[in-house]
Amino acid sequence: MRIAMIGAGYVGLVSGACFSEFGFNVVCVDRDKDRIERLTGGDIPIFEPGLESLILKNTKSGRLSFTTSLSKALDDTDAVFIAVGTPSRRGDGHADLSFVYEVAREISGKITDYAVIVTKSTVPVGTGDEIERIIKEINSSIKCDVVSNPEFLREGSAIDDFMRPDRVVIGTSSEKAREIMRQIYRPLFLLETPILFTDRNTAELIKYAGNTFLATKITFINEMSDLCEKVGANIQDVAKGIGLDGRIGPKFLHPGPGYGGSCFPKDTLALVNTAQAAGSPIRIVETVVDINNKRKQGLIARVKAIVKGKITGKQVAVLGVTFKPNTDDMRDSPSLDLIPELVKEGAVVNVYDPEGMENAKQVINDVHWCDNAYDALTGCEVGIILTEWNEFRALDLDRVKGVMKVPLIVDLRNIYEMDEMSTAGFEYHCLGVKSF
Ligand code: NAD
Repeated sequence: MRIAMIGAGYVGLVSGACFSEFGFNVVCVDRDKDRIERLTGGDIPIFEPGLESLILKNTKSGRLSFTTSLSKALDDTDAVFIAVGTPSRRGDGHADLSFVYEVAREISGKITDYAVIVTKSTVPVGTGDEIERIIKEINSSIKCDVVSNPEFLREGSAIDDFMRPDRVVIGTSSEKAREIMRQIYRPLFLLETPILFTDRNTAELIKYAGNTFLATKITFINEMSDLCEKVGANIQDVAKGIGLDGRIGPKFLHPGPGYGGSCFPKDTLALVNTAQAAGSPIRIVETVVDINNKRKQGLIARVKAIVKGKITGKQVAVLGVTFKPNTDDMRDSPSLDLIPELVKEGAVVNVYDPEGMENAKQVINDVHWCDNAYDALTGCEVGIILTEWNEFRALDLDRVKGVMKVPLIVDLRNIYEMDEMSTAGFEYHCLGVKSF
């Protein structure tokens, strides 16, 4: 089995590396020359736990390679996976499918024998039909099937998610394509992973339904957290109290600064647009998008309320810039809302993140980048925990208190206990209790 993976980003690299680990020959293609040169030299351009060793192992064995040449990758391939980005289109929030359609055009003239063309990118319902139309318009004699196989991995635990997924969704009505997909996922089939075969439109919609449902769950608990602050209840216990109900479940019930990342913001918006265009608006998701945007934009007001409006000239530490821990991904991170506002308000901002600073430096200006959390907190009157990296969960509180000018912590991830912090001498503000 030979697989071509087009797009060597978070999804393409992880999927390509994992398929090669399954024993298939995988060629990853990216048009970004620098990225391919780095990969070829064994330098992994993204931070994802476990990815480096998996890539190095499989490149060494000869099963995994990287190229900018599409023709080389498509030579004798059985399956072509499209894993390019589908960001929000500027102006209207629809998914920007230009990268996907460009790939469809590029591959249409280069496939000689039968191959399955598999969309791993998250694409709105009907995109597979359009890919098929484009390919057949350019090359009417092409022998292929276009399959939807949405990816559910999470950055930060992507390898494990790919190797041990909750389910695999495959959308096609072709028996031949189904058989190839069965072979590709055979190692997971042997682990009794549920594999859901459905039609292509349904597979495409499942991905958006999943992400928007999770975004809704997060938004629900965030709003519940705000209510707790007003009425004097405790969100941790509310979350536990409802999460123990098997119909609800405990996951995605942690209040925070608003969801961010490379998927939820753009996918919620894309589904809103798809549904409106189809004449079947999903008002609950429209509301989720609106609430989440306002929550992120309102972070500065939360911080200002705590310091009674006096932020100008204050030295503030921000711990964590990535949208979640264990990734270097900065896309739509809440830090992009909060940090520029802090700077605009005249705060002197120290920032530290274990893995995200290189990417953050491209999009955040006028702050001091620090080597560790203690450096960042030194001399500060406010410390804000914005991403729940493990290393922030176990800070030496005496040391933190010693280096800060004023021991005031704003914990937007609720990673500390109120009692612990007050015993350690901090003014501590977290989400979903009356302190805010
Ligand atoms: P990414 O931006 O990290 O990677 C995309 C890559 O595609 C880039 O390296 C880019 O250079 C390359 N590319 C673009 N056009 C190309 C072309 N014509 N030929 C070759 N390479 C090309 O994106 P990502 O985060 O990996 O996401 C890819 C898709 O997977 C998106 O649709 C996303 O919604 C979906 N997805 C992402 C995640 C996630 O956690 N990142 C999870 C599930 C699904």
